[in-house]
Amino acid sequence: MPAVLRVALPLPLPTLFDYLPPEAGKACVGSRVLVPFGRGRLVGVVVVIDAEAAVDSKRLKQALRLLDDEALLDAELMQTLAWAADYWLGAPGEAYANALPLTLREARALPPTGDEYWSLTSAGQSAHDTGSRRGGSKALLALLADGALSARELNERQPGWREAARRLAGAGLLERSERAPSEHRPPSTSAPQLSDEQRQAVAAVGASLGHYQPFLLDGVTGSGKTEVYLALIEQVLAQGRQALLLVPEIGLAPQTVRRLRQRLGVMVEVLHSSLSEGERARAWLRARAGTARVILGTRSAIFTPLPQAGLIIVDEEHDGSYKQQDGFRYHARDLALVRARALGVPVLLGSGTPSLESLANAEAGRYRSLHLRARPGAVRAPQVQIIDMRGQRLEHGLSPALLTAVAETVARGEQALVFRNRRGYAPVLLCHGCGWHAECSRCERPLTLHASQRQLICHHCDHHQRLPATCPNCGAAELTAQGHGTERLEEALIARFPRVPVLRVDRETTRRKDAFEEMLATLDNDQPAILVGTQMLAKGHDLPNLTLVAIVGVDEGLHSVDFRAEERLAQLVVQVAGRAGRARKPGRVLLQTHQPEHPLLRNLLAHGYAAAARELLAERRLIQLPPYSHQVLLRADAPQREAVELFLTAAHAALPTDAPLQIAGPMPAPMALRAGRHRGQLLIEAGSRGVLRGLLRPWQQALAALPTARKVRWSLDVDPIDLY
Ligand code: ADP
Ligand code: ZN
Ligand code: ZN
Repeated sequence: MPAVLRVALPLPLPTLFDYLPPEAGKACVGSRVLVPFGRGRLVGVVVVIDAEAAVDSKRLKQALRLLDDEALLDAELMQTLAWAADYWLGAPGEAYANALPLTLREARALPPTGDEYWSLTSAGQSAHDTGSRRGGSKALLALLADGALSARELNERQPGWREAARRLAGAGLLERSERAPSEHRPPSTSAPQLSDEQRQAVAAVGASLGHYQPFLLDGVTGSGKTEVYLALIEQVLAQGRQALLLVPEIGLAPQTVRRLRQRLGVMVEVLHSSLSEGERARAWLRARAGTARVILGTRSAIFTPLPQAGLIIVDEEHDGSYKQQDGFRYHARDLALVRARALGVPVLLGSGTPSLESLANAEAGRYRSLHLRARPGAVRAPQVQIIDMRGQRLEHGLSPALLTAVAETVARGEQALVFRNRRGYAPVLLCHGCGWHAECSRCERPLTLHASQRQLICHHCDHHQRLPATCPNCGAAELTAQGHGTERLEEALIARFPRVPVLRVDRETTRRKDAFEEMLATLDNDQPAILVGTQMLAKGHDLPNLTLVAIVGVDEGLHSVDFRAEERLAQLVVQVAGRAGRARKPGRVLLQTHQPEHPLLRNLLAHGYAAAARELLAERRLIQLPPYSHQVLLRADAPQREAVELFLTAAHAALPTDAPLQIAGPMPAPMALRAGRHRGQLLIEAGSRGVLRGLLRPWQQALAALPTARKVRWSLDVDPIDLY
């Protein structure tokens, strides 16, 4: 029997596909092949090269063409991807599709990764010396006589040079080369003198370079974590190795990128979602070639090849954006640990508000804990105070104490931030005449009023409709806005503080690229200002003149059905509060609530995040919730509720009856209707991961074979981070 190639194809199917090797070339594991599939062709990744055919090889098709002579994905990435596909129950092909930039999933040669350079050959040098050429050729030889120039420089200095270059290259006088993009500027800023705590953290991780060891670096925003990262990256670079730094979506501010570039003086490759596909592929390939030494990126950057890996850092490790919420539902932080182990390098998880998962790992001794308690820049930690709203006369949802604090702040020439995690004008539009309220017919949830757009918008399915002038139910002209979103707070603050600039930062006002940065840049001064915004403001740009943070409307987080809501609320409050007093001026934080006695808030404010997290962890342990148990969520949705129920009931029946599992459901999802589709779920919990892992693949296959599966859309989420 001839050996066959086993190939992962970019299809949502849990199998690999067998092909006969192509006519020419010798395939290796990790190289791409073009294969026939159905009526078309697909680019796949070779996973096994000498597999035994499972069917008669006469029935197998032959691969059309080998696209890479050597592996595009190295052994470590291949192994990690196989592990990840298995763990998160992805289709193998989907895991590869996540790892490879789009351009590399096409049947084309690899794009060049460097800048194009032109230089004189020795024949060219003598042609220049003897002056044997004329016109454009002569000018080009003269330009290059002092050394190679990039195509970009040539474009500027001799427009139309390519014609001459072609002639001269044909005559053997010029040659073209590729060079790593030149960003080898000497560092333009130098490191501050590290504090004792920072030095200890750097020493601990530094001593682990060269082998696997996870660390949890616990330090609030502004405590100097980034300086620790920078010092470690410098060590890694000095050893000739690569560093990967992951940041959450929201953390990739140009300010961060500039800081790294200025300090490290090497090329910092930045990978983020708005990169063009060509740029993304080049960056990926430069990392693979080892020319990119420092890679900074969001979630998907965890798939960057690191042939000379030295260190992996995950900043703000608690951030939910590290978990992919559709398709291949991997978690980049967890994958960072898997890769670090495979690569034999330390992994550093940093956060001011570590996830309960990571805290539990540190407690169990799996991670080593490092702490930064002091804030080097600031005078002292901000003072946090609860404002009891009960019985207060509110002005547009803002209490008198809060407004006074804002007034005092701007009177001192300082800046205040009013944080409200709800965009739009008001979350509900109500008829005072008959009690009708505007609701999304596809989600059965209130529509949010966006006043300046004169629209009602569903924040769940993005349905838009025009704002009615009168009540559609009774015709009365008594429609009133209930509750307060950022747009309404902005209006109220402008009315109240007419002489102070009020800036609103939410998804609506920052839609345009760079708008967020531009807006924040206007605050980089000593002028008073008021910022109103959503959690986009929780991180990013430092605002040296910001001294007051007022947090309003967090009470929703205190009665959510999601068991992670309190953890998230605590993280958000601490992160937002961390924006105050980043500079030399002392900061103040106000938390306005109807539940001043709530134990979480009390604990958080009196004893800080670590104490609140300990309490939450103790609760989780008591009721056996993650991280003390392991969950898998089966989600299903369909236009008909019965289809969902039938599928989930059959799915339940397909589980082994003798396994030590807790099963909740079938039940409606917390949001039971969304965009016109009924949603249901089945939650499976087990005390041991091993129990779950053993039964999930067979169950997934059984689910795919259920007749009822054809009428629903369904997915399995391993370690889900929210239950919606
Ligand atoms: P984090 O990453 O924890 O938010 P940063 O590393 O950004 O903290 O540090 C916050 C601020 O303090 C930055 O402006 C940084 O330059 C400054 N800083 C950090 N460490 C020191 C130090 N040892 N001495 C002086 N300034 C420092
Ligand atoms: Zn009405
Ligand atoms: Zn809707």
